[in-house]
Amino acid sequence: MKRKCSEMPAPKSTEDLKPIMGLEIHLQLNTQSKLFCHCQTEASEPNTACCEICLGMPGSKPVLNEKALEMGLKVALALNCKINSEFFFSRKTYFYPDLSKDFQITQFEIPIGINGELKLKNGKKIRIKRVHLEEDPAALVHEQGMQASNYCLIDYNRSGIPLTEIVTEPDIESPEEAREFLDLMLNLLNYLEVFILGKNALKVDTNISIKGFERVEVKNITGFKAVETALKFETERQKKLIAEGKKPARETRAFEEEVGRTRSLRAKETEEDYGYIFEPDLSRIEVSGMQIEELKNSLPELPEQKIQRLMKEKGLSEYDAGVLASNFEISKLFDEVSQKIDAKISARFLTRELPAVLNHDSITLQESKVKAKDMIELLGLLQEQKITEKTAKELLIKLVSEKISPKEAVEKEKLAKSIDEKEIEKTCKKIISENKKAAEDFKNGERKALNFLVGLAMKETKGKAEPRIAQKIIEGLLKK
Ligand code: ZN
Ligand code: MN
Repeated sequence: MKRKCSEMPAPKSTEDLKPIMGLEIHLQLNTQSKLFCHCQTEASEPNTACCEICLGMPGSKPVLNEKALEMGLKVALALNCKINSEFFFSRKTYFYPDLSKDFQITQFEIPIGINGELKLKNGKKIRIKRVHLEEDPAALVHEQGMQASNYCLIDYNRSGIPLTEIVTEPDIESPEEAREFLDLMLNLLNYLEVFILGKNALKVDTNISIKGFERVEVKNITGFKAVETALKFETERQKKLIAEGKKPARETRAFEEEVGRTRSLRAKETEEDYGYIFEPDLSRIEVSGMQIEELKNSLPELPEQKIQRLMKEKGLSEYDAGVLASNFEISKLFDEVSQKIDAKISARFLTRELPAVLNHDSITLQESKVKAKDMIELLGLLQEQKITEKTAKELLIKLVSEKISPKEAVEKEKLAKSIDEKEIEKTCKKIISENKKAAEDFKNGERKALNFLVGLAMKETKGKAEPRIAQKIIEGLLKK
């Protein structure tokens, strides 16, 4: 059967289809109480941390949590935003069972911060459009698995939890770039200590389009790996549609993490559809230039400054300083360890050996058993040349997964290096007398023969002799 050409348009090259992406990151601020009431942010039993305000009862009046405001301002400042000297809250109206008031208190017209930026490693700037504060809705609890039911439970403990929303301009050009941006931002936020990474602490909405085509939103993605996967899937889906001569529709999609796909949820509503109105129960907030200056001065050391300090004070290379600063927890450990241990040794172990072991076990430093005290003990043994580098690395592997004292382990398992040079010398003399041919070869200028003899000395001492010391001794003995 013959087909007409029009039924099968020739696929366009997907090479020149350029994706552009923007992110909206919702982050739970690490406050004790909720954004507009005194309810605790931590509760074990569902629906026990709520009151008339966060339940949205008629006549209840919200009051802004100062601490949350301060944290939001710090986030905006760290992202180099301009702080608005006056801002207010708005009601974003929509109906959903998780929203008992039928509106969410958020910021729309004037957020706390605008026009910021965050620099990627290659120097590219991702512009930050806005940073604002808003309350989280309640949590919908769907029963899973065999007992799956046709009803849904609502937990109002989440209702009113303080969030800060960070919105980027569509400056991101690949899923990998989105991932890098998120990793850098998370690290920056860790330095600010404004949140605890945990369940529900971080949610990302993304918008993605191919240049010249409609924009698609992918909502409610939890986890950075998931954002990367969702964006990869969406880029390919849209490119494929265009190559087939179709157009991606303007819509909102959901990401199904288990299968790594997105699916259509609804035609996209515009912001106007939400019918924002000014929140009359909260007064306008003014922030003076002096208050902003004070907040700026109260910001902790941030990654960029840390890199400069580590280079200047500790003499680290820019590369090592960068690796340390890109992981807040490890950089904190370095600060402690390098007070007692040589900075070069500390950097070598904390930028290379430790991350390698953590990576291998797929855990973070916090999830490991490593304590600064034990790390200092371990590297101290190495620094004082009581153990070899090889033993130190082996003990580090244990230190990550077990609660051990490096000193006790060295004693118990007899790992101490035979630091007694006399003993190494005795072994070396024995080796030389047993290997006259190799000794002669070395005297005649063959370097390989020396390596051979050092190898034998190492074997004889069961690896407890530092190779470079054995080498020095053998060279010395043969020069005589
Ligand atoms: Zn409450
Ligand atoms: Mn939001």
